[in-house]
Amino acid sequence: MREYEIYELLHRYGIKTPRYKVYEIDQEFYFDHFPAVLKIASDKVVHKSDVGGVRVGIHSNEELQQAKREIINNLQNNSIFLDMNDRFIVEEEVHGVEFYIGGIFDSIFEEVLLFGKGGVTIEIERDICYIDSEADEPEILKSFRTTKISKIFPKFRGKEYKIAYVIDTIEKFQKLFTHEDIVEFDINPLVYTDEGFVAVDARVKTGQKSRAPRRQRSFDIFHNEKVAILGATDKPQKVGYALAKNALQSGADIYFVNPRLSRLFGKRVYKAIQELPDIDTAVIAIPSRYVLQSVEELAHKGAKNIIVISAGFKEVGNQEAEEELTKMAEHYDLNILGPNSLGLYNGDKELNLTFAADSILPGHIGLISQSGAVLSALIDKSLSYALGFSHILSLGNMADFDFADAIETLQNKRRCRYINLYAEGLTHGKPYLRAIRKSAKPIAIYKAGKSEEAKRAAFSHTGNISGDYEMLVGLSYAAGAIIKKDIDELVFSSLYAEKREALIVTNAGGPGTILTDILVSHGKKMASLDEETIQKLSAVLPPTWSKNNPIDIIGDATSKRYKAVLDIVYDEKRLIFVIVTPQYMTDGLNIAKTLLAYPNAVPIFFGEERFKEAFELFKEHKRIHFNDLENVANIL
Ligand code: ADP
Ligand code: MG
Repeated sequence: MREYEIYELLHRYGIKTPRYKVYEIDQEFYFDHFPAVLKIASDKVVHKSDVGGVRVGIHSNEELQQAKREIINNLQNNSIFLDMNDRFIVEEEVHGVEFYIGGIFDSIFEEVLLFGKGGVTIEIERDICYIDSEADEPEILKSFRTTKISKIFPKFRGKEYKIAYVIDTIEKFQKLFTHEDIVEFDINPLVYTDEGFVAVDARVKTGQKSRAPRRQRSFDIFHNEKVAILGATDKPQKVGYALAKNALQSGADIYFVNPRLSRLFGKRVYKAIQELPDIDTAVIAIPSRYVLQSVEELAHKGAKNIIVISAGFKEVGNQEAEEELTKMAEHYDLNILGPNSLGLYNGDKELNLTFAADSILPGHIGLISQSGAVLSALIDKSLSYALGFSHILSLGNMADFDFADAIETLQNKRRCRYINLYAEGLTHGKPYLRAIRKSAKPIAIYKAGKSEEAKRAAFSHTGNISGDYEMLVGLSYAAGAIIKKDIDELVFSSLYAEKREALIVTNAGGPGTILTDILVSHGKKMASLDEETIQKLSAVLPPTWSKNNPIDIIGDATSKRYKAVLDIVYDEKRLIFVIVTPQYMTDGLNIAKTLLAYPNAVPIFFGEERFKEAFELFKEHKRIHFNDLENVANIL
């Protein structure tokens, strides 16, 4: 599409362009809105200024003729020769802050807009944000506020900038992009003027948009009353052994299936699926070549939830078998988890259908992970701090059941209070964003693969600057998810998520101040001390104590003084940090012992050797503790 054709398209959606006129290649200019700009409009030129195809600051029709000769010259120097199909555009000059808006039809998120600072250096600056085509006004604003250029709103250097223009323009582009057969576009610059945004340049790539269909589900993946385990075995080195063992710990009815075994852990082993009684859930841990056949037989048996532990599908190039699984899920109305899944954990029943080496404690965290390895690492870590889960889903290759399904399912689970996602990539982007928007529970996400470069062909700026990591993270954030930068945060942050107010007890000023900054930057509020508390504290502390939060109890504090202070300020509803730096009289082990009586206090002991025994004690009691400030943010 030529620039002037795009201008007409923009007008249909109420988007402003400069006044312009299109000229044949040999036509005489006549224009009366100076100063003006002359541009080449040719299918042979994509980025016009790169080849000298734009002249600005033109004041007369004579100057237009002159500028035309220069452009023709510039183009020839770049081996571009014009013909009768090419055109010149003359348009009025528009002045203001240069923005940029682009759109890309992403294979996962479908229509996504990019918006931010425009101009010729946009690829270098990348001061842009991602906006879903379904984002409403608050979501648009939330996203836009992540850019630096947004700081000029509502006022900058004495000039007013209306945020309403941003919303209005973006909403128009959302409409245009979803209604037209456009797969990529960019407008750079999109100039902010007192009358609103004006598009002074436009590139559009048309094409058919293919959307990944999403199916309706009629069965809860956590409805697991009667569970069959295919591939249950007595060989401890096999996955089917751990699965069988873990599954037996719960109250659900478990049925083992293995043609080469008759008894396992004192229970009957069924030779074939056909022999099984009715079941609702099946876990498959058999060689991949038998999986499809088994799914079919299980579907006929009435199973609705099928957890495919077996690997050997998409991840090894076996695309066909994976697609077959997707089709079966649809055809038989199944929830298929995996393949290449670590399994699921259903805290409502304390049913562990994973082959994780460790047991899983019941709790309130809903954990959804694409990678099984990361999941088992997190489960392992959670155990050392006695952290529990309400539900765990290892999504694996996501042939069927995906992030959107998982988020939706966890909405109805009372026990689940937090939803934490470990994502590498997604399948259905729009349903995923809708699920985040609707979620009544906080959703945190860690996205792996930050360094990923955009892999798209460079048709436009949009193609150059849209990165997979940034897009997923930007869209998730705007829709309402919390972005985590550290994997550990996925489990630990849930611990203290509900505690907004923080209190610090310390025997040194510096670390208290640094920690305050960390807490505040993570949205925590520093608790203030009332007069009564200050008086009580003054009675047990030396006169030089800080008299506010952080409560600096002075370098010579011993376990006794820590105890006296905690007895006054300890409060389960608050986030309490106890900082201990090694001084001559600091009795680390005794302070640690004292802290055991205050389960909610988080110890930060700076040191190694001096605090060795204290750390041993904390480990023994599964207490979260730190030996520096760097990792404290992981639990916020
Ligand atoms: P391209 O992006 O293909 O190189 P543009 O049409 O964006 O070409 O023009 C290049 C630059 O010239 C723009 O980034 C902008 O700074 C300036 N420009 C183009 N058209 C106008 C206009 N109508 N008013 C003011 N400046 C303009
Ligand atoms: Mg441009």
